[in-house]
Amino acid sequence: MQPVLSLSGITKFYGPVRALNNISFSVPQGSVFGVLGPNGSGKTTLLSIILDVLKANNGNFLWFGQPGSPDQRKRIGSLLETPNFYHYLSAVDNLKVTQSISGRGDAAGIDRVLKKVKLYDRRKSRFKTYSLGMKQRLAIASTLLGDPKVLVLDEPTNGLDPVGIAEIRSLIIELCHSGHTIIMASHLLDEVEKVCTHAAILKSGELVTTGEVNEILQDEDVVELSAVDLNLLAGIIEPIGNRVNIDKEANTIQLCLPKGTAKLDEINSFCFNKGIVLNHLLLKKKRLETRFFELTND
Ligand code: ATP
Repeated sequence: MQPVLSLSGITKFYGPVRALNNISFSVPQGSVFGVLGPNGSGKTTLLSIILDVLKANNGNFLWFGQPGSPDQRKRIGSLLETPNFYHYLSAVDNLKVTQSISGRGDAAGIDRVLKKVKLYDRRKSRFKTYSLGMKQRLAIASTLLGDPKVLVLDEPTNGLDPVGIAEIRSLIIELCHSGHTIIMASHLLDEVEKVCTHAAILKSGELVTTGEVNEILQDEDVVELSAVDLNLLAGIIEPIGNRVNIDKEANTIQLCLPKGTAKLDEINSFCFNKGIVLNHLLLKKKRLETRFFELTND
């Protein structure tokens, strides 16, 4: 299937600062694609380039296999910054204003997008009465006007509390299920791990890795284990893995082994033969957060 977006060798300088260097990756149709990276890694610059807000110094990108055209731009909804909604206007009236500026969609479209983001029942309430999560859902509703198939969102959960974050997370998953492809920048790795199917990880403007989130995570087996004497256990198992991390707070040890080699019964009897009785043993999926720090730390 043709990718929704493919980037090839994108490079961007701000004067002497190289914000992006030779970035190439593809966004598959139907994916929730996370653009991840620490502060200043180039996420916003990248999104601005694919939305034609900024021009790259080098490289090119194709939407739906074609160089950008106004017709194609209509198939892409975007949220680079939170829109300035009017506090005294209702959701419907705010979206009418957005619509008249953008020229996207029609009156029926407003009801449709409000239903999609689950604000239809509150459509006549003033914007100022909305929670932060509702405000952000209205912002996402504005990107859905004109029924674009692709959404580009910069940090969609920024500044939200856990409830607001969960609302946006389920909305993104629902939008993906209803046929949208979503490209989102984020530094909230826990969220990305829960929502994204694919990701590209940036560090200082370089692409560190890209692919399916599961593939990015599963380059190693991670076994979590615990015993009464954690330090003794760590010393004993260290030689059988790539490395161990002690999580003092959770009172567990993570043992990293080459992919596909973790055998829990062998680890259990190895420890037992060394005089350690395990009280916890679990094959875990590596957390994206752990992988992210491994990839982006020097
Ligand atoms: P954050 O997570 O903090 O928003 P980011 O990953 O989105 O960061 P960018 O905002 O794209 O990163 O910035 C990438 C690099 O380019 C940084 O070194 C930043 O200082 C620099 N940069 C961004 N915008 C400009 C600009 N207008 N002029 C000069 N340098 C800039």
